[in-house]
Amino acid sequence: MNIAEIALKVPLSRTFDYQLPDELVSQVGIGKRVLVSFGNRNLVGVIVGYKNSSDVPGDKLKAISAVLDDTAILNTRHLQFLRFCSQYYCHPLGETLFTALPAPLREGQPIDKLAVKMLRLLEPSAKLRGKKQQELLDYLKSSGTTSINHVRALGFTTAQINALLEKAIAAEFSAEAADWREQTIEIAAKPTLNQEQAAACAAIKLSRGFQSFLLEGITGSGKTEVYLQALEDILLLGKQALVLVPEIGLTPQTVSRFRRRFPGLAIELWHSNLTDNERLQVWRRVEQQSCAIVIGTRSSIFLPFAELGMIIVDEEHDASFKQQDSLRYHARDLAAYRAAQGNFPLLLGSATPALETLHKALTGKYQLLSLTRRAETSTHNQFLLIDMKAQQAPQGFAAATLVHIERTLARGKQVMVFLNRRGFAPTLICHQCGWLSACHRCSTNATYHKGIAQLICHHCAEQQPVPKQCPDCGSTQIMPTGFGTEQIAEFLQQRFATTPLTRIDRDSTRKKGSFEQALEDIHQGGARLLVGTQMLAKGHHFPDVALVVILDVDAGLYSCDFRATEHLAQLIVQVAGRAGRSGEAGMVLLQTHYPEHPLLQDLVNNGYQHFARYALTERQEAHLPPYNHLALIRAEGHNQNQVLQFLSDLVPVQPLCGIQLLGPLPAPMERIAGKFRYQLHLQADARNLLHHYLAQLADYINSHPLANRIRWSIDVDPMDM
Ligand code: ADP
Ligand code: ZN
Ligand code: ZN
Repeated sequence: MNIAEIALKVPLSRTFDYQLPDELVSQVGIGKRVLVSFGNRNLVGVIVGYKNSSDVPGDKLKAISAVLDDTAILNTRHLQFLRFCSQYYCHPLGETLFTALPAPLREGQPIDKLAVKMLRLLEPSAKLRGKKQQELLDYLKSSGTTSINHVRALGFTTAQINALLEKAIAAEFSAEAADWREQTIEIAAKPTLNQEQAAACAAIKLSRGFQSFLLEGITGSGKTEVYLQALEDILLLGKQALVLVPEIGLTPQTVSRFRRRFPGLAIELWHSNLTDNERLQVWRRVEQQSCAIVIGTRSSIFLPFAELGMIIVDEEHDASFKQQDSLRYHARDLAAYRAAQGNFPLLLGSATPALETLHKALTGKYQLLSLTRRAETSTHNQFLLIDMKAQQAPQGFAAATLVHIERTLARGKQVMVFLNRRGFAPTLICHQCGWLSACHRCSTNATYHKGIAQLICHHCAEQQPVPKQCPDCGSTQIMPTGFGTEQIAEFLQQRFATTPLTRIDRDSTRKKGSFEQALEDIHQGGARLLVGTQMLAKGHHFPDVALVVILDVDAGLYSCDFRATEHLAQLIVQVAGRAGRSGEAGMVLLQTHYPEHPLLQDLVNNGYQHFARYALTERQEAHLPPYNHLALIRAEGHNQNQVLQFLSDLVPVQPLCGIQLLGPLPAPMERIAGKFRYQLHLQADARNLLHHYLAQLADYINSHPLANRIRWSIDVDPMDM
């Protein structure tokens, strides 16, 4: 065994053979990083195996230059998990491993360089002028020595921490992190579970080894409470837990709830705003047992927990769990693998489960646990469909909608208006010739942003000044058509001039801290009218909202994406869940041109649970997931013919047994940033057939002459078609 198989971060779906020099034999090991020369570069690689012989002739075989680790950074079990991930998603092993690793490790930095940075209070009686600085000081007084990571996770900024350090009120020092299991676990006061919650919790606690649960519970039914109480036993056994949350769901509210329940317990956060070094710290802490719980977004699924005892996926239907480029993994699905591998329970929670998950629960693969009542109140929201047909609605609002808004505001309650389109208007139109503002590089419109007087493409970010005259006919009669949040907010502010209004979308929250500020305004009750996109919809608990208005549901009713109605229903329920959270029932208005649409009727009258079960029967009839398995081969490039040629070459001459192949078809957005985009659809009755075929196809693609002239990717279980 004098040859090592090394995974490198290169876009080739194979590993590379390197000779083991005698002087390094005692240092190497599977899962350790090495330095090797590749082409004319030095690359960091990971040893994934050994062999006696190689296809590369002996005199061409290069030797490993150096071994970077004393102990493996990926243990056998974790390597096995990442291998599965690479195979399942048809993604090169090297790129998969390097996706999982935090940047400093990818770059070959030593792993044990980082001890935990701690804060110790020197001057407890100091008085500080800064309010937050004083708060930090008070916190340190009560908590004693604390890690800087922890303090930052509580919302204190580096500037505030530095202020204390500069004034010598606190000192920083490095420490070996303590084992979290040496602490006694404290559990703060908690509510008594209601009957449904108790039954759910008992089922989870009674499970032995691997078992998946779907906790299907309406908004506010106490799912989080079930997570918290189900975790107790796991923690008491000395096992760690991972709580996966949607990108936008990692709110201070969620986090503080976990912290309050388990005071003093080492809980780490994982999200896209961490620095590379903070990521490495979390990576190390879970591996070294100095952290008990991680609350994290999708990529936390790759963390190397020493002894994981449970994974919870909150809002399991959320689209942000699927990565949409390079390694196109789904964190929820990988969670199922990890739970099976580690032989522990997996808990998926949602008010609006994905149809895939619901199907598994209804067919007995997952255990279904239902929460049907709101925990604190017994009210249900009232839905009202507003028929927009033949309505005068020059500002996007039906007259009836405005009356409801006015009445609700008059009662001193908050109103939330939801529209999933930012900007002022989706396009400008020429009144004379019908010219529409379009992006030059994409097959789509350019959105009008009035505040900054620009036309912006929401796909490639191209910006153009707003033309004074129509580029086609010279007319000056060009006007916005359609509505975006900017326009809606402007109109409402004019109409309800004395009512404080807050707008929340990507544009209004671009400045750092402005999102938090806006949420704060809403909580303090300052803002009475809330206008926003999806950002406003998820997870926040606004107790004063009594009316939710959803301006446009029609786009989702008639889309070519077969998941559009599912996503629309999830969105409606999610947005509706913002209303009526404190006692009195909320009202939800849906503006639509199709009030008689069976989906809307079912959803409004019978709820998501009923709708979803009906939608499943439709999927079955149409042979669509979850009754069928899909993969997509995407290709894009500046040369349209090459892209088409490449995909056409992948279509076999003979029909395949058990697999349907469709295409090449234009992607829903045929051109983005000047590139043409096409795709092949693969559909199979059995998953193993699909994977078997994809593996062959990946080999063939790699040998195709066009494979490195255009961009291509394989997407297994694609979410957007
Ligand atoms: P979900 O996660 O399903 O939206 P939460 O767990 O956030 O629901 O519960 C909604 C509210 O009800 C929270 O304020 C929570 O503290 C409270 N709550 C949950 N379970 C109970 C219970 N058994 N008794 C009293 N209050 C509860
Ligand atoms: Zn014109
Ligand atoms: Zn564009």
